[in-house]
Amino acid sequence: MKAICIHEHGGLEKLIYEDVPVPDVGPNDVLVEVKATSINHLDLWVRQGLPGVKFPLPMIPGVDAAGIVADAGSEVRHVKRGDRVVVAQGISCGHCRQCLSGQDNLCKDYRLIGEHRDGGDAQFIAVPSRNILALPEKVSFESAAATALVFLTAWQMLVDRANVRPGEDVLIHGVGSGVGSAGLQVAKILGARVLVTTSSETKAAKARELGADEIINSRSQNVLSETRRLTDKRGVDVVFDHIGAAVWEDSIKALAKGGRLVTCGATSGYEAKTDLRYVFYK
Ligand SMILES: [Zn+2]
Repeated sequence: MKAICIHEHGGLEKLIYEDVPVPDVGPNDVLVEVKATSINHLDLWVRQGLPGVKFPLPMIPGVDAAGIVADAGSEVRHVKRGDRVVVAQGISCGHCRQCLSGQDNLCKDYRLIGEHRDGGDAQFIAVPSRNILALPEKVSFESAAATALVFLTAWQMLVDRANVRPGEDVLIHGVGSGVGSAGLQVAKILGARVLVTTSSETKAAKARELGADEIINSRSQNVLSETRRLTDKRGVDVVFDHIGAAVWEDSIKALAKGGRLVTCGATSGYEAKTDLRYVFYK
């Protein structure tokens, strides 16, 4: 089959389009003929490499994949050849305390396809059958591939960690990103009033379309003072961040008393200053 492979880390030239064997399908595995994948920031980290992180090179990147079942192992019952499916990328042991309590993302063996094992940037991908989700006819392969990881992340942050309640104010940084636009939609489902930041007018219009209540232009406006103004100086109940260093200090200051900050990334840098007075007073 054809696949994109990374043999060593670096720029775009390190993505090699080549022939590789179709993966083996174990009795509990499903082989998916990939129809769509998406690009996550994680895909860039995997390609570029990260200090102190070892990736299993050579590997096929691609954290998201949607497609059609091409083959299923002898023990697989819930899907059959020809079914439209999307791949859930988290793979865990399935029997430890965390897995059995529904917190499989905290399993010590938790792995992502496209990060710790071959991903979806290939004609075929084989994954355990429990990672295969049925895809309704009305959802395109492209939408499904653009949905899985970012909505999983946003849901974990806003539902499981921040416990957003109806009527709360949520500030979403960088709403134009995949996880940011997912966060906006999840926060709206939960009944929150959602403030978002973006530096682009195009992304602002898209955010408005997806239900953003207030839009702050992070280039021309001061995010902290706008947040305070829009909340009558109260601050927001939840800050949703994936930008890191560039917004960290102001994010903590932008929180209301009892507020929560959830983070899933640090694209602007991972060393940030925390004034602990804001943490314990709030
Ligand atoms: Zn486990």
